Amino acid sequence: GSTWDHVQQAPPDPIIGVTDGWRADPDPRKLNLGVGAYRTEEGKPYVLKAVREAEQQILADPAMNKEYLPISGNPEFNRLARTLALGLSSPAIQQNRVATVQALSGTGALRVGAEFLSTHLPSSFPRIVYLPSPTWGNHKSIFAKAGFQVREYRYFCAGTRGLDFVGMVADLKAAPPGSVLLLHACAHNPTGVDPSPEQWKQLLEVTSEGRLIPFFDMAYQGFASGDLDADAASVRLFVDAGLELVLGQSFAKNMGLYGERAGALSVVCKSKDVATRVESQLKLVIRPMYSNPPMHGAAIAARVMGDPKLNELWKEELRGMADRIKLMRKVLYDQLVARNVPGDWSFVLKQIGMFSFTGMTRPQCELLVSKWHVHLTLDGRISMAGLSATTAPYLAEAIADVIK
Ligand code: PLP
Repeated sequence: GSTWDHVQQAPPDPIIGVTDGWRADPDPRKLNLGVGAYRTEEGKPYVLKAVREAEQQILADPAMNKEYLPISGNPEFNRLARTLALGLSSPAIQQNRVATVQALSGTGALRVGAEFLSTHLPSSFPRIVYLPSPTWGNHKSIFAKAGFQVREYRYFCAGTRGLDFVGMVADLKAAPPGSVLLLHACAHNPTGVDPSPEQWKQLLEVTSEGRLIPFFDMAYQGFASGDLDADAASVRLFVDAGLELVLGQSFAKNMGLYGERAGALSVVCKSKDVATRVESQLKLVIRPMYSNPPMHGAAIAARVMGDPKLNELWKEELRGMADRIKLMRKVLYDQLVARNVPGDWSFVLKQIGMFSFTGMTRPQCELLVSKWHVHLTLDGRISMAGLSATTAPYLAEAIADVIK
């Protein structure tokens, strides 16, 4: 017998599993709308020109080497990443009171951030995290692994396919002081529903009055509107109001660096002195986990952010990706309306970012997969970035069929 005879088969990851199903589907019309990765109009993965150019420059540089990075990662990358998020004129940046470490993309930032909070929140604070309902599937496990009790706050309203703001505020007002509040900075995954600027102001008040610890997960900066500054408005609102907060950043989507695992974790503190001590403790979280982060993705991102020409090119490409996604929303909406599909589909236009949360039921989603070869997560989330001018009408036809 094996030492591992008792080990049970784990279920496949609900999102990664969609791609496996799509791969195994022999039908030529098959569509993969599960994975949150940008695709070109031809349905192909896209390496940004700015990224290719930065990569070539790095490889051509004779001074390039493969030495270890510091535990906290590439210092230039860290500086540029936090500045990208908070803005150069941010009081926190100006006063040097942000502790930043490089992270294994957005997931790693969340994991290290959760571990830091679990260890270093004042002992009188509860270890409770509030997550939106629904949220990105990994949030729960990440915080649970770090020892947090996971609670949810109301977020998505199935009736309007919009924000349940009243429910959200009520749940946050009931949260014990010192609880961690996870917020999606923009382009909420999976719903595509974000608070309005006015609602963000009220959320700032609720957070501050309830003495909650904000943890912003920013996986889509620039990907929502096409504008890096506009998409960071929520985080900047909180920082500029003087709050201390935690921020996770990912360059997976906005630079297309998915597999490079380039991300950052920042803790915005009241003073430079506190930030210095926080950074020293973040290193103690990282060292026994993976020692130090990988260099290549961060070097690319640092060059793209730091070189004025590459930066301009990146912003242009980012706008291009965001615009193509918005266009796909329009095409899908028009096609649904043209087919007289019952219901108000204007939410397809209103939702923000890579995903649309359609409200389709599990049986409807299953039929989309089995009959139409449209692969998606069974919660009805579709990746708009996986559509094209030819596949969007096909999807509309499929949706019309499964919900009639
Ligand atoms: N947070 C949210 C809300 C996400 O949607 C994702 C990716 O889909 C991530 C974090 C983490 O992504 P990564 O670890 O690839 O940066």
